Amino acid sequence: MPVRATKRGAERTPLAGDYDVVICGASFAGLAVARELAGSGASVLVVDRYEIGERQTSACAAPTEWLDNLGLGASIRQTFRDLVIHRPAKTYRWTLPWTFSTFDYRQLCELLAAQGDFTFDTAKVDGITRGTVHTVHTDRGDLRAPLVVDALGWRRVLSEKSNAIQPPDARLSRGLEVHPPATGDDLELWLDPKYIVPGYSWAFPAGDEVRTGVGSFDPHIKVKDPTVRLADDLGIGTEGGYQGNWIPHRLRPATGDGVFFVGDSAGHCLPTTAEGIRTALYFGLAAGRELRTVVEGRQTREQALSRYASFSADHKWAFDWLWRVQTVFSGMNKYPAMDTALELTSGPRAVKWMFRHYLNIAPPSFALAGARPWQVEPWREPGTALPEAA
Ligand SMILES: Cc1cc2nc3c(=O)[nH]c(=O)nc-3n(C[C@H](O)[C@H](O)[C@H](O)COP(=O)(O)OP(=O)(O)OC[C@H]3O[C@@H](n4cnc5c(N)ncnc54)[C@H](O)[C@@H]3O)c2cc1C
Repeated sequence: MPVRATKRGAERTPLAGDYDVVICGASFAGLAVARELAGSGASVLVVDRYEIGERQTSACAAPTEWLDNLGLGASIRQTFRDLVIHRPAKTYRWTLPWTFSTFDYRQLCELLAAQGDFTFDTAKVDGITRGTVHTVHTDRGDLRAPLVVDALGWRRVLSEKSNAIQPPDARLSRGLEVHPPATGDDLELWLDPKYIVPGYSWAFPAGDEVRTGVGSFDPHIKVKDPTVRLADDLGIGTEGGYQGNWIPHRLRPATGDGVFFVGDSAGHCLPTTAEGIRTALYFGLAAGRELRTVVEGRQTREQALSRYASFSADHKWAFDWLWRVQTVFSGMNKYPAMDTALELTSGPRAVKWMFRHYLNIAPPSFALAGARPWQVEPWREPGTALPEAA
């Protein structure tokens, strides 16, 4: 359960001090790291410029088994077995071998934070001075720790090279959505050039709202107009305002100059689908487990950095492969070749095969207690003996 480092309001004091671990960013990635350090005896500070769960920047859909395995099921708003894909001339319904759920962001963050054992405070992180003990510079004072995690999202604030990855010329996608009050039964995607050519559009129901938006793989293409068009076409409007963000679509180094990068800061969001919550949790758990062994004196910081970096890099093939799919897909979207591709892949066996492999990039068993990198069970459909047997 997190505690506050300083008081709020007029009694707010400068934030500065020495810790074993400083985790910058209190969203999916940062909170997953913190969770793994609970009970280790380490002094852990988590900082974010907003309160925990205050700013949602995502449609918040993730594989249900991941949420359940992390004890976050109470945040689920709706669960879907089917994925409905709209092309201009035809709609496909894919029945997945596992389910996706939409969840409440604030509630999920609070549940995840409650599994941790850390001090939390709000501060804007500005940079770092590296050393055996790093100094993290914030707008409220300097924080010192030998173990520092950048879970600050796509900006990669603690990287020396962060200036090289600014939009719109960086390897980023962009996404924008609205959350109007409405209801729906299906998780829907549009591969429709009417809204966007290099990208896709979505409508994800979550109880009493339908999270509706457009993502562009080309960072130069603005997505507000197509988002409004889609919401108008669905008859749900744009009440409640817009939320959006940049989304990295290439894997980046997961460590650098003694710092651990996790989630979007490490480019852990999957290309093609822009699914970044599951992977932020997955790599967050991996980083947290390595950090835990450091604070328990079982390995050095350098060993943990090396193990975590190679664990992340071991997934490069999957990120590269999905990036190639994204590139091909962007080129095909306005041509009949896309319809042919969907016809070829829409059979139940093909859908099961694709989604089983896709889930196994970051399988839900990793969320279970005790799982360590490279010792994780691949996901398989209940009742099948081996992953290859289905
Ligand atoms: C419109 C949209 C919809 C999406 N929908 C989905 C979806 O349905 N499913 C899915 O899996 N993925 C989705 N994604 C991708 C997903 O949101 C990200 O991959 C995911 O949020 C990454 O988690 P993270 O913890 O690494 O970073 P973030 O969630 O971006 O968290 C970064 C944290 O750092 C804080 N922060 C940033 N800079 C500073 C600073 N300088 N000082 C202090 N704090 C700072 C922020 O306040 C934030 O709390 C979507 C993305 C967008 C843009």
